[in-house]
Amino acid sequence: METVDRTAPAAVIVAIDGPAGTGKSSTSKAVAARLGLGYLDTGAQYRAITWWMLSNGIDVRDASAVADAAGKPVIVSGTDPAAPAITVDGADAAGPIRSQEVTGAVSAVSAVPEVRTLITDLQRSIAKEAPAGIVVEGRDIGSTVLPDADLKIFLTASPEVRAARRSGELKGKDAADLAATQAALAARDAADSSRKTSPLAKAEDAVEVDTSLLNLDQVVEAVVALIEEKRAAK
Ligand code: C5P
Repeated sequence: METVDRTAPAAVIVAIDGPAGTGKSSTSKAVAARLGLGYLDTGAQYRAITWWMLSNGIDVRDASAVADAAGKPVIVSGTDPAAPAITVDGADAAGPIRSQEVTGAVSAVSAVPEVRTLITDLQRSIAKEAPAGIVVEGRDIGSTVLPDADLKIFLTASPEVRAARRSGELKGKDAADLAATQAALAARDAADSSRKTSPLAKAEDAVEVDTSLLNLDQVVEAVVALIEEKRAAK
């Protein structure tokens, strides 16, 4: 006979949105690991479909070519915060999706409505199947993908801080080129915020956390406290 553990906390769905370089990934992974929740990096899914388009000779500036091909790749995302995995047609895509070529093309691909519909459906089914709940990070999670999430967080940080963090991540490659990093981030945010279909946006009921003057531990503490508050009220 199946027993129900009445002491187990209720499953929670947490949406963490914001522009690039605000600490979304580090925060989301750490929060999920701390609370035993799943973790989904939705940016990785858009990067994965972009990588497939580039690898298959699709012109990413041709929205109808991208739309026609959007249903072809099979994208599978793992939800373990300790080892986030992503495959495309069974091949490990974790490395190639971080290339500069993919980063430069992803905003064009993610703006195509057919791409968004497919990836949004995938995200919703993954969130529904997470037994303890899940932290889902992206741009439109609270506003469009999971509007009924238990908690919505919108992370921000000043452009200077975001560029410095991103340059730090790229250490050894172009850490010196802070200005170029800042310009590239600004261009990607502008494209992501101005597209017609589910742009980067703060949901009305999201809690905004400015991470400019906080370290990772402080952001994680703040988000964990907000989740525990929600769980206690459930
Ligand atoms: O988070 P990351 O920088 O890896 O996201 C890569 C790109 O994927 C973003 O610049 C954006 O174009 C797209 N994206 C999106 N919606 C999401 C997550 C990411 O359009 N929910």
